[in-house]
Amino acid sequence: CGVFGVIGMTDSANFTALGMHALQHRGQEAGGIVAYSPETGFQSARRFGYVRDNFTKASLMETLPGQLSIGHVRYSTAGTKGATAIRDVQPFFGEFSMGGAAIAHNGNITNADALRRELIERGSIFQSSSDSECIIHLMARSMGRNIPDRMEEALRKVEGAFSIVAMTRTKLIGVRDPLGVRPLVLGRVGDGWALSSETCALDIIGAEFVREIEPGEMVVINAQGVQSHFPFRPARPRFCIFEHVYFSRPDSILGGRSVYETREAIGRELAKESPVEADLVCPVPDSGTPAAIGFSLESGIPYAMGIIRNQYMGRTFIEPTESIRNMGVRLKLNVNRALIKGKRVILVDDSVVRGTTSRKIKEMILDAGAAEVHFRIASPPTAWPCFYGVDTPEREKLLAATMSEEEMRDHLGVDSLKFISLDGLYRAVGEAKGRDANSPQYCDACFSGEYPVKPADMLDRGFQM
Ligand code: 5GP
Ligand code: SF4
Ligand code: MG
Repeated sequence: CGVFGVIGMTDSANFTALGMHALQHRGQEAGGIVAYSPETGFQSARRFGYVRDNFTKASLMETLPGQLSIGHVRYSTAGTKGATAIRDVQPFFGEFSMGGAAIAHNGNITNADALRRELIERGSIFQSSSDSECIIHLMARSMGRNIPDRMEEALRKVEGAFSIVAMTRTKLIGVRDPLGVRPLVLGRVGDGWALSSETCALDIIGAEFVREIEPGEMVVINAQGVQSHFPFRPARPRFCIFEHVYFSRPDSILGGRSVYETREAIGRELAKESPVEADLVCPVPDSGTPAAIGFSLESGIPYAMGIIRNQYMGRTFIEPTESIRNMGVRLKLNVNRALIKGKRVILVDDSVVRGTTSRKIKEMILDAGAAEVHFRIASPPTAWPCFYGVDTPEREKLLAATMSEEEMRDHLGVDSLKFISLDGLYRAVGEAKGRDANSPQYCDACFSGEYPVKPADMLDRGFQM
């Protein structure tokens, strides 16, 4: 998901809508905005579908006045899967003795089932099926004297990944979990401030990137400025390495590095680790593009657009059901036949999850008359589900959970298949010595199976680590 918020700008909801539009790649199912103005109080709107189709209409935006607003773009992740109901669309809102507050959450709470059970037993009435709603109920039960205190107390009971943008009548609040699994950044816009999942959404509103919110940090922003503190027990950060590979936009800056540059470096690493003789390097667009460019630069094999993407389709992976996803590949990607015929082609993609995409693409490429097809993948085999806010299927549906690299190659029917090594990936994100096996610098659980936060709910549901 993507979260965004603005304080200190007239008609701030318009800025929030733009920010959400720039974060659309993080969630395409639905979006919501909460805005506050002293005249109208808290107002909210939640809609299914793209930001551009909803939050651009003057008639809707006029209902969201005020200098303070937050927004959320949603896609359902582990635990909250299934048809999204409008009541699951964030931000969530709560009325407390000291006034209202709204929160927008990116990440996944790993003990949400347990918290929900306990809260329901003690009288909380849940409105949604979302793990994030627990936070509002925990805040309602807190004795804290102001909303940031209540949020702090609530979040100390929450495990897992959270990057949160929240608001009261007068404050914009940002928080990151102690491991800093999901991103969150601070920007300056005019006399106001913005919080965003990624820097690309600061660019769109002309905000200046100030800094990242630190893992474990809470910032409370009002007319006087930004106050920062660290309410949680300190921990070694474990940022999601997959944000670098796929999830974030290439024009964002993560950990001081351009995501694009990192992806190009991943492609270079791949070319060094797993070279192959061929005529063309083609990306599986768009997610494989920067890595394919890196592969081509390193290997000297020409880069070409062998697959053309229909720009009017979303991200396939994010379509919730299998049949739609299957359709998606064909609806979204088509082979550039004239270019491919008779050629030995290296295809570069960011990841193989179920293998649906790769299989379809291989068929299309061979249909078009390619002489050879070699897959190079910009991440290690995805063998474990993510429980921290990226939608991966159950373990059994992950190709790499049940097959070796050779078996995957045969299953996909390609001439060769190579994944970047975990160390190679760490080098590409800037860790010159690779992965520190004793204390890894990132979360890489979907590749390594080493979960930095115990996935308590999933273990209760029978998940085997
Ligand atoms: P598959 O068809 O193998 O199930 O999916 C792989 C494709 O899904 C890749 O091309 C990748 O770009 C895309 N993808 C989208 N979202 C995700 C995600 O959350 N995790 C992974 N691993 N791949 C994703
Ligand atoms: Fe990121 Fe993978 Fe960790 Fe999930 S499990 S947070 S996708 S690295
Ligand atoms: Mg892709």
